[in-house]
Amino acid sequence: MDDAPYCDTPERAPAPADGGPPYAECVLCRKPTEYPESTKGSTLCPVCAWQEAGRTACSG
Ligand SMILES: [Zn+2]
Repeated sequence: MDDAPYCDTPERAPAPADGGPPYAECVLCRKPTEYPESTKGSTLCPVCAWQEAGRTACSG
């Protein structure tokens, strides 16, 4: 077997570093957002928020 074990690591957001609150996951890409986990509704990371804003602006 030549499987590289480190390739088996799932692409998940790492736990926040010390000193920061836990951030909610982006609902689209599951990366940590700028919002705390207690934020209600959909949370988007800056990238997805920017893309959503652009999509909304271009759809009308
Ligand atoms: Zn995202």
